[in-house]
Amino acid sequence: MILKDIPKNNRYLFLDMNSFFARVEQQVQPDYRGKPICVSPYTGDSGCVISASYEAKALGIPGVCRVKQAKSIYPKIIILPARPHLYRFYHDQIVQRIYNFTPFIQVLSIDEFSICLSGQDGHYQEARKIAFGLKSAIQKEVGDWLTCSIGIGPNQFLAKIAGELKKPDGLFEITLENLEEIYNKMKLTDLTGINYRMEKRLNYANIYTPMDFYQKSLPELSRHLGIMGKVWYYRLRGFEIEQLAQETKTIGHSHVLPPELRSQKGAEKVIIKLIEKIGYRLRQGGYWATYLSLGIGYLGHLHWHKVKKISPCNNNRQLIKFALDFFAQSPTQKPFSIYLTTGGLIKNHIQSISLFDNFRKSDYLSRAMDKINDKYGATTIQSAALAGTSSVAPDRIPFGRPRFEIRNM
Ligand SMILES: [Mg+2]
Repeated sequence: MILKDIPKNNRYLFLDMNSFFARVEQQVQPDYRGKPICVSPYTGDSGCVISASYEAKALGIPGVCRVKQAKSIYPKIIILPARPHLYRFYHDQIVQRIYNFTPFIQVLSIDEFSICLSGQDGHYQEARKIAFGLKSAIQKEVGDWLTCSIGIGPNQFLAKIAGELKKPDGLFEITLENLEEIYNKMKLTDLTGINYRMEKRLNYANIYTPMDFYQKSLPELSRHLGIMGKVWYYRLRGFEIEQLAQETKTIGHSHVLPPELRSQKGAEKVIIKLIEKIGYRLRQGGYWATYLSLGIGYLGHLHWHKVKKISPCNNNRQLIKFALDFFAQSPTQKPFSIYLTTGGLIKNHIQSISLFDNFRKSDYLSRAMDKINDKYGATTIQSAALAGTSSVAPDRIPFGRPRFEIRNM
């Protein structure tokens, strides 16, 4: 594990757009400003709200929930269908404005950006000036309704946490000096990357608060968490190690099935479509997957899940074969949602000459399809098995979330 420099204050800015999709909708449809609105890819009751305006959040509607739940909290809630192209247009505008300040930007998702200030003098005043400059450039040049929260910290992880402490339209700094004070005020699950399950795992190691976590020694953390113990040890102290953590990333997609596809045949079509998207992203990033995980949700909160090691691959045909083999083992209930994830990604995998020449042909075929789709649009060419599914799993936001999870690899 290579650590970059010793930690210094004011080295990272983390910019997070507030309720991004909802505010973009209010930006282009001013009648909705000041009103509780939610954005969902599928506006029926079973759809998932992916963004709620601040007015909706003030009524108690969570940023992510089912449309049905949002309606039960506030029956007059306005549900708008998601428009990924519109959000991507605004995303590009924002990226452009950030580039006007610095080229040291990492795009982490459609509405989250990490900016490295190394190379500048790193003074708080300088970091604040850039933060205010970014906020005003976005509001003046991109959209007057678009606000963001900005965190400043010694590494990306702490800058992100700082950004979350003041929302909306906030600016907050975590320094090597106020670090302990901040950890003392937080719960474990407030730390980005610590979910409920991870919290349980830390509890086993007698870690109940961020302060406990921070005070554990390196050997103790390594004993309980393996390589990720080391990552957390340094991350909590302000070292920048996210590059390393990203090496364990995953690429996946999920989809809630529209009523007409809630059958075994329908689910298979959606699986193929999701694999085509995942395969494309794998090949774009030069990745090969070594794990595949398939989750199926059923009405009434039941869930089936299978994860398995696979031989390194990134062509659609092989991935589809693996995924459909998994699916054949799932219960024959009416499927409601599908979650597909590839993990254990490796780069620059050198393939041994395959005995199964068909799979090499599949590699060429996948790459040829990518080229055609790159040139003429996302679904110009696709598997024949997908005929009649053009409205299924429509174009989604093609960015992952920043990853801070500990994974069992
Ligand atoms: Mg956001």
